[in-house]
Amino acid sequence: MLREGVPSGLVIHATGVAGLRELSAHLGREVGNAVKGQAALLHFAAPDSPQIFADGVHVVPHEDGTTGIGSTSEREFDNPGTTDAQLDEVIERAMAAMPVLHGARVIERWAGLRPRARSRAPILGAHPLHRGEFIANGGFKIGFGMAPKVAQVMADLVLEGRDAIPDGFRAEASL
Ligand SMILES: Cc1cc2nc3c(=O)[nH]c(=O)nc-3n(C[C@H](O)[C@H](O)[C@H](O)COP(=O)(O)OP(=O)(O)OC[C@H]3O[C@@H](n4cnc5c(N)ncnc54)[C@H](O)[C@@H]3O)c2cc1C
Repeated sequence: MLREGVPSGLVIHATGVAGLRELSAHLGREVGNAVKGQAALLHFAAPDSPQIFADGVHVVPHEDGTTGIGSTSEREFDNPGTTDAQLDEVIERAMAAMPVLHGARVIERWAGLRPRARSRAPILGAHPLHRGEFIANGGFKIGFGMAPKVAQVMADLVLEGRDAIPDGFRAEASL
């Protein structure tokens, strides 16, 4: 719970890149960084088709009649939220690999920052800086996919005191 900007009660710091930067600043070494990704959504219905990974590009048909395409992996960037010619190239690569996509309308272009821990693994468990508080960070490229399991192990830990976090996902593994 946030009261005048100060958390109270049981606290899990799930603050992505900001949390990795806070850790790095306090510990004086890089614990993790931001990897920008740009992706696009096409008006192309193939809900029963499999996902394709070709020429470094993911083509992901959705149930709603759209198809996702992604993505870039950028360590260097000026603006975390903008898309540019690098995304055009990703779309071109997807269309070259899957000619059936040629002519599909681009509905949306977007960009975001992936929180990448030095270990490339999630960082879960007791927070290394804030005593009595917890951290869930480092989702990097699997943050959505892992979210239900992360939520489960964090709820078990925070609410029940049951620790089922794999060793490689503990904060110590990334510090
Ligand atoms: C283009 C792209 C494609 C991706 N595709 C996939 C995919 O197909 N599958 C997959 O599993 N993952 C994918 N990811 C990765 C996924 O987006 C991340 O792993 C995931 O978003 C991490 O979730 P998070 O909640 O830990 O961090 P974030 O999504 O970064 O959220 C952290 C939040 O904390 C907020 N915050 C920061 N500081 C504070 C504070 N002090 N107080 C309160 N709030 C704060 C931030 O504003 C932000 O909203 C993709 C990422 C990108 C960029």
